[in-house]
Amino acid sequence: MKIYVAYTGGTIGMVPSDQGYVPGKAFAADILRHLNDYQPEHGFDVYSYKRLIDSSNATPEDWQTIAEDLQSKWHDYDAFIVLHGTDTMAYSAAALAFMFQHSRKPIVVTGSQIPMIKKRNDALSNVFGAVDAVLNGPNGVFLFFGGKLLEATRARKIDTSALSAFQSPNFLPRGVLGIEWEWRKMHLPKQPECFQIPPMASGHVTILPVFPGVQATHWEGLLNKPVKGAVLYSYGTGNAPDQDANLLNLLQEANDRGVVIVKVSQCGKGAVSSGTYAVGSALERVGVISGRDMTFEAAFTKLHFLIALGLPALEIKNTFSKTLAFDIL
Ligand code: ASP
Repeated sequence: MKIYVAYTGGTIGMVPSDQGYVPGKAFAADILRHLNDYQPEHGFDVYSYKRLIDSSNATPEDWQTIAEDLQSKWHDYDAFIVLHGTDTMAYSAAALAFMFQHSRKPIVVTGSQIPMIKKRNDALSNVFGAVDAVLNGPNGVFLFFGGKLLEATRARKIDTSALSAFQSPNFLPRGVLGIEWEWRKMHLPKQPECFQIPPMASGHVTILPVFPGVQATHWEGLLNKPVKGAVLYSYGTGNAPDQDANLLNLLQEANDRGVVIVKVSQCGKGAVSSGTYAVGSALERVGVISGRDMTFEAAFTKLHFLIALGLPALEIKNTFSKTLAFDIL
């Protein structure tokens, strides 16, 4: 198999500096040596991005850059591995899943909690696990970390220090790597590949936090131009205060001018539901749609993706509710 490895930055390849860890330039050559040692019968190319970043600096434009890079190499390789920082790995992985729907080749995003230059690290086990996943696993877009192959749109970073830093709270892992792989069998209808890499633009999607005492003034600036979509970080099953008319008016007014507002739960696990509580129904009456069991990261990137496609608000709402990449039930 010919495997393309894109090194975008992140802890995995970092080295110490006066200010703390920063991405290192020598990493690409080092990891290539390890890969050739590990699987000499397969062919690897490692490409180090010119602008290596801590993924906290990643923007929607960077998702597009990674996608365009993979697309430009698509016919030259059988599989793709993206090495990425963990902080925003779930966002980039989900964005790739929306851009490479029903991919017939594997794309696996991974990284590490400890840099590879440290004697004890999780870098090699994650990279080798990602290699095993593309050699033996399903096609599609995944995030591999700490022995788990997770659906890219379902993964979340849930731990700042554990080596098993990612989880998929509402969707079983596709594979778990112990001594051997344990695969989750899924019978999926064959669908044509649908690759779309629209022009992503920072600032088109925002977050509306819900917290005790939240007021319209907290949200006003967040909903200003150029915002076209918002993820409302609601309580529990999709609730927010319904006794402040200013808050609801603000949402109604944003909805009326074409801002698509999606609610997901702060709980992190489970789904938001419709009509369980009056406080939740109030949101729906002003046009907020349900993100059901989606992760915050997937809802955020899906809004970015649909907005970048240039769809009108009503079509975004309709498409949002359908699963594009295992993202919503
Ligand atoms: N701040 C780092 C990054 O996201 C963290 C990591 O890679 O684990 O690039």
